Amino acid sequence: MNSHVMPTYARLPVSFERGEGVWLWDTDGKRYLDALSGIAVCNLGHAHPAVTAAIATQAGKLVHTSNLYQVGLQEALADNLANASGMDNVFFCNSGAEANEAAIKLARKYGHGMGVDEPVIVVMENSFHGRTLATLSATGNRKVQEGFEPLVGGFKRVPFDDIQAVSTLSDPNVVAILVEPVQGEGGVRIPSPDYLERLREICDQRQWLLMLDEVQTGMGRTGSLFAFQQTSILPDVVTLAKALGNGVPIGACLARATAAETLTAGKHASTFGGNPLACAAAQAVLKTLREENLVERARILGSAIAKNLRAALSGNPHLIEVRNKGLMIGIQLDKPCGALVGLALEQGLLINVTAETTIRLLPPLILTDEQAQLLVGQLSGIVNAYVFP
Ligand SMILES: *Cc1c(COP(=O)(O)O)cnc(C)c1O
Repeated sequence: MNSHVMPTYARLPVSFERGEGVWLWDTDGKRYLDALSGIAVCNLGHAHPAVTAAIATQAGKLVHTSNLYQVGLQEALADNLANASGMDNVFFCNSGAEANEAAIKLARKYGHGMGVDEPVIVVMENSFHGRTLATLSATGNRKVQEGFEPLVGGFKRVPFDDIQAVSTLSDPNVVAILVEPVQGEGGVRIPSPDYLERLREICDQRQWLLMLDEVQTGMGRTGSLFAFQQTSILPDVVTLAKALGNGVPIGACLARATAAETLTAGKHASTFGGNPLACAAAQAVLKTLREENLVERARILGSAIAKNLRAALSGNPHLIEVRNKGLMIGIQLDKPCGALVGLALEQGLLINVTAETTIRLLPPLILTDEQAQLLVGQLSGIVNAYVFP
């Protein structure tokens, strides 16, 4: 095949033509249960009528003007996000990496304001923050960085879920911590229950910004609208993207208190950021999450699926653990199991394997109980029948 698309992805041999709810149909008309939601993007499932209508209506009215002008829909979405999160304001962009770039710039600017000329941001081992130069430098995965040196400086890496490693840092240039509430690409790693609270204490003592990358955990995925809402803390900065537009590209960097006053006129910008089309989609997403009670649904359904998977896989000698935070579910095996993705695909089930040994499920939040049962039955069948090479 002579593709003119740059070969940056190892793509599976399937192409989808149509989707509805949790289902996708390929170009041969075969149906698949989507337990990945385009990697935590289509949290409302495919072609959700409310989002489709919002996009269609807005597209017929106005798609883009410019951030040179007032954008009413952007104001309305920012209000909605601020009220829902307890944050003060929002910068809109188009992706997760861009949202994190905004956070990184914000932290550096904050540092300079504090008289730190070479500000340092604390980041974690095993983390994932994106593929732009600054965000791949922040990412704790050598494979993502290899070949792109020199990396962007100003990051200090420590082990994830290790408070001691953070509290013993003595570098006076540190100005912020950037961390995922649950590591997604890193293998659905869930830190100790008081991890964010302890990080908050350290940040308060030292006047560091606590910046949460909720690009994957946000928008109801973990059983609260934002993962930090299952703790008692408020972060200084939160980044969002993935499910914010249910597939329409939009990213956001939310900030609070001093952090909210840091990026002023002329200090950051995006041509597309927060355009009327993307904001209309995101407003429909927030409205639907509320109206259909999907955040609570993610919490209840996630526990049920994890429990049923544990039971169905209990006799499997390769199972290490099933863990979940809402509908962010990881099934860790004792060996690399990437081949399961292709086997599941053949059987009409879309899953993912991350960090080599962890099956990752990120099903749409609209999954019914019957569909959840189908998912557990089909997946456990595939895993239990699999003979490791
Ligand atoms: C996916 C992801 C990103 C990158 O988002 P893009 O939209 O691909 O740039 C950043 N952080 C986390 C935690 C993610 O899961």
